[in-house]
Amino acid sequence: MGVSQVSEAPVSAEEVWQRCLEIIQHNLGENVAPVRTFLRSVQPVSLQDSVLVLRVPSPFFYEYIEEHFSTLIVRTLRRLLGPKARLEYQVFITSEAKPMRLSSQELPPPTVVPGLRPAQNFPTYLNPRYTFDNFIEGECNRLARQAARTVAQRPGQTAFNPLFIYGEVGQGKTHLVHALGNYARMLHPEKILLYYTSERFTNEYIEAVRKNKISEFLQRLHSLDIIIVDDIQFLTGKPGTQDIFFHIFNHLHQNNRQIVLTADVAPQELRGMEERIVSRFGWGLAAPLFPPDYQTRLDILRFKLQQEGVEIAEDILAYIAENIQTHVRDLESVVIQLLAETSLRRRELSLELAQQIVARFKPLRSRAVTVEQILRVVSNYFKIHVDELRSKSRKKQVAYARHIAVFLARKYTRHALKGLGEYFGGRDHSTILHSCQWIEENLRVSKELAMHVQDLERILFRTSS
Ligand code: ADP
Ligand code: MG
Repeated sequence: MGVSQVSEAPVSAEEVWQRCLEIIQHNLGENVAPVRTFLRSVQPVSLQDSVLVLRVPSPFFYEYIEEHFSTLIVRTLRRLLGPKARLEYQVFITSEAKPMRLSSQELPPPTVVPGLRPAQNFPTYLNPRYTFDNFIEGECNRLARQAARTVAQRPGQTAFNPLFIYGEVGQGKTHLVHALGNYARMLHPEKILLYYTSERFTNEYIEAVRKNKISEFLQRLHSLDIIIVDDIQFLTGKPGTQDIFFHIFNHLHQNNRQIVLTADVAPQELRGMEERIVSRFGWGLAAPLFPPDYQTRLDILRFKLQQEGVEIAEDILAYIAENIQTHVRDLESVVIQLLAETSLRRRELSLELAQQIVARFKPLRSRAVTVEQILRVVSNYFKIHVDELRSKSRKKQVAYARHIAVFLARKYTRHALKGLGEYFGGRDHSTILHSCQWIEENLRVSKELAMHVQDLERILFRTSS
């Protein structure tokens, strides 16, 4: 081993790890962002006799690092510390008294439950359209996607319990957990699974309290093999619901049932959530979904257009992928708008058309509009009086226009759900959420709705500028 090399070598584990990180980042170039957050949860523990020990929060991290970076890291270590340098891991699961697990191979085999329970008749609330097959893999979602697959294969039997998937709205959390659920159901038809939005969870709980049926409620949930709760951030500031959730969580976890959660932020960042609950979220794996990188954006666009049977030139595809950098949902909207323009308005799928659609898109988010403006524009467009939009009328046309108005208000103003409810005739937050969900669901299938929303957005942002 060269003496000069050693004398210049960094001495502490931190310094060595820092150097490794720099080299990894350098090697990754542009794709570094998703990996950086990931690597932040890896801690250098010690450096002795040329062995660097890294602490990783779960076996998955260990496997991921082994697969993607170990060669690079070891090469770096050798350069810094000499040819005997090695890398070791400590798998550390933050918890009170949870066993240390070294790799997924050492976990107990899945228990076989005889098919006695009529699991197939249990309503799961899963949407069969969301699968792994149509969830495009990319650097931005690889960790979460792989973890979700693993959990579906061996629910309750891996260290990823709970599996906590987080990311901004529109990045694919809901899609991914449905995919997990659908796949798990296919592999383990005997297992009882239930998908919950936080809203439905809260409502069922409140209903159970009202009807004095808490024990039935608990019994039903305690019998689950897999529970998925989507958008858990909506449980913040609801102590009663959190309490019952805590109870259910513990029961299921102790019995090796699988818990899958999503939120718009990492567990530690959930404000208004009790500490004891947040700390339990750290027991398993928290996997992020990042905004899609360029390659993933391309892949998603190509896939979605292909599914619609649309042929598109590469330069148009590249133009869109370069210019829509936010959410997967926005990519989807572009696709729908393209389809609306080409099929309903019979325009040619040209680069010019793509540019027009992308141009509509970009400035929208940064401009401010008010709920009043939205109401006015929707009212004019559908020829329905503002008062009627705000009324309780259930007439189909009115309800349709109202859903759109609510959706736009939620998308482009900063009002909380409750505040929005007041603009719409004192509706409660769940009605507002329902409107938004209705639109989002239908935007994916109805070109007509997409066209209405898109027209309204155009009018809205023209008049407000
Ligand atoms: P979130 O729950 O995070 O707000 P969703 O799961 O509703 O996001 O995703 C928004 C839309 O984008 C959905 O239609 C979903 O199918 C789509 N989507 C997200 N990520 C991907 C992906 N990697 N591949 C294909 N479609 C995706
Ligand atoms: Mg969602």
